[in-house]
Amino acid sequence: MGISRVTEPITADDDTIRSALKDAFLPALLPALAHATGDLSILRDELRPRTLAPAVPQAGLPAEAQDAARELALEAIRRIRDGAVAPNSHTIEEDVKRTVAWMTDSPASDEYVHLLMEELAPEGEDPRAPDWRMDPAVRFSVVVIGAGMSGILAAIRLQQAGIPYTILEKNADVGGTWLENTYPGARVDVSNAFYSYSFAQRVDWPTHYSAQGTLLDYFRSCAEEYGIRANIRFGTEVIEAAFDEPSRSWRLRVKGADGAEETVVAQAVISAVGQLNRPNVPNIPGRDSFAGPSFHSARWNHDVDLAGKRVAVIGTGASAAQFIPPVAEQAGELLIFQRTPNWFVPVPHYYDSIPAGLAWLYRHVPHYIHWQRFWLFWTTTDGMLPAARVDESWQPRDRSVSQRNDELRQLFTAYLQAQFADRPDLLAKVLPGYAPASKRLILDNGIWARTLKRENVRLYTEGIREVTPAGVVTDDGVEHAVDVIIYGTGFQASKFLTPMRIVGRDGIELNEQWDGDARAYMGITVPHFPNFFMMYGPNTNIVVNGSIIYFSECEMRYILGCLRLLVEGESRAMDCRPEVHDAYNERIDAANRQMVWGVATVNSWYRNEKGRSAQNWPFNLVEYWRQTREPNPEDYSFI
Ligand code: NAP
Repeated sequence: MGISRVTEPITADDDTIRSALKDAFLPALLPALAHATGDLSILRDELRPRTLAPAVPQAGLPAEAQDAARELALEAIRRIRDGAVAPNSHTIEEDVKRTVAWMTDSPASDEYVHLLMEELAPEGEDPRAPDWRMDPAVRFSVVVIGAGMSGILAAIRLQQAGIPYTILEKNADVGGTWLENTYPGARVDVSNAFYSYSFAQRVDWPTHYSAQGTLLDYFRSCAEEYGIRANIRFGTEVIEAAFDEPSRSWRLRVKGADGAEETVVAQAVISAVGQLNRPNVPNIPGRDSFAGPSFHSARWNHDVDLAGKRVAVIGTGASAAQFIPPVAEQAGELLIFQRTPNWFVPVPHYYDSIPAGLAWLYRHVPHYIHWQRFWLFWTTTDGMLPAARVDESWQPRDRSVSQRNDELRQLFTAYLQAQFADRPDLLAKVLPGYAPASKRLILDNGIWARTLKRENVRLYTEGIREVTPAGVVTDDGVEHAVDVIIYGTGFQASKFLTPMRIVGRDGIELNEQWDGDARAYMGITVPHFPNFFMMYGPNTNIVVNGSIIYFSECEMRYILGCLRLLVEGESRAMDCRPEVHDAYNERIDAANRQMVWGVATVNSWYRNEKGRSAQNWPFNLVEYWRQTREPNPEDYSFI
């Protein structure tokens, strides 16, 4: 599929290398070369990054230091090319420790170094893979629901552990979100080196932030490469899963593409259906009376030609912010109905291709992409979290919740003021009045302002009263006639796992037990539902600090640890102890109340109908990694 995960031998001449180095990101290149050559002396003091703040070009390295770094890099790459490199006599651990000290001028804790070594996973290595295999004589099988990013990962790990499994996937292909969301402009807002499996880094990403098709190809290629496709039943939707206590197994009622139902039996179930899967199409009065075509962003109707049409877009969240610019270019008129404005993070290279020189370096310098991932991990994840934490003494709390949070607000305000300096009318509509990180931050390279300023685009902030056959009526009574309505109105994020019915011990149904307020232990297990494991379950969404793939990898390691307890132990079923689950959730809730999304009153999918954040993880990434490294058998009753 044209995806490359290993670097190519270097055969280029010095001029080609020198020219490529102009595009290098040096704070990650020098560690990569130190690691590849085993010569850590190139991590010189005077070449250290001057700042760890995200998005500062070359981490603030002065021009002359950059020149010196490029010279050293050229020499190191030449040595690799000419075979003049002795094998690296250091362990990765030593390299990581030295590099962290070089980058930060302070030592990293052993725990953090351990985590970083896993994240780094240099070519060909996979430290998170299971180091055990199930005895083939044991009768135990697993059903995975969903073949998106998490389901593919689950399958790879089950395969590595020798546990028989089947993936049930409602769609006709793998990819989940990246298969379903085909709206124009769909792309990821976490940098590629990070939004990818730690063990399947790609050295040839075409852009810094991949478009939907690129990511779909990536997940397809992973499914192919790890040989899991044969275990996927496509076009198969799970209607109900019920635990049968006497046989310690789950019975799943599934519906095939032809509508025929059957029962699938397995000893454990892993739900990998995602949090943002079922579209939310709001029940606006008259919605279904609209005479023209209408569709949701995640069910884009590519048969509808928008060229020259009057198009209404309802909603301005992360999805709409991506599809509105290309739709504006096509539509005759575009009417945008915004309920709440977004905070935008300026990222000038958000839509850019990776420059040719940097692309060459990624493809040829061993481990460069891994050290780039390391740099991103170090600078853009847990370091961001304090800006979302509430300072109890901070007043007033309506527009920011702490000094750090207010600094973000000021930065983002200045960005919007600059972007809309010539349009005070629009600035008044787009400037949020709530604290940053209360809801999703949107990356922007200036395209939002350019789009809103187009002659054929109008932004409405009045509420929507109803939809009529002709169009959208706002609260001021004006009917806006349109040909097409597009709902960019998000997903039913609080209704975890619905519309599936999950029935546990004593006939308890999971969504009835939750009553609109989903909770789980580690986001993975729920009392009364033995051997039922969730990925991207309650309180495992991250807001500012990182990639959801990181969470999936942690979750799957934990799940595999549970399965090991089952297949190697006396009991074949484990049920989370209620008191463990409850204490965990109290801790999560208390911590979420200390986070900006826990106290904000602005609309967002980060809270459920009870006002509680059943979605978000309130701690740092290391904390989740630590908690999920292995299950504590004492947290479970074995039945
Ligand atoms: P979303 O963030 O929930 O946005 C939904 C939008 O629809 C909001 O503007 C919301 O307004 C509006 N809305 C909902 N109901 C409405 C109603 N009855 N009347 C008027 N407006 C209404 O959904 P999304 O944009 O699909 O994004 C969901 C999540 O998916 C994101 O937060 C992100 O995690 C993920 N995502 C990621 C990317 C990426 O990586 N680049 C792209 C797309 C999505 P309010 O704000 O007032 O509720």
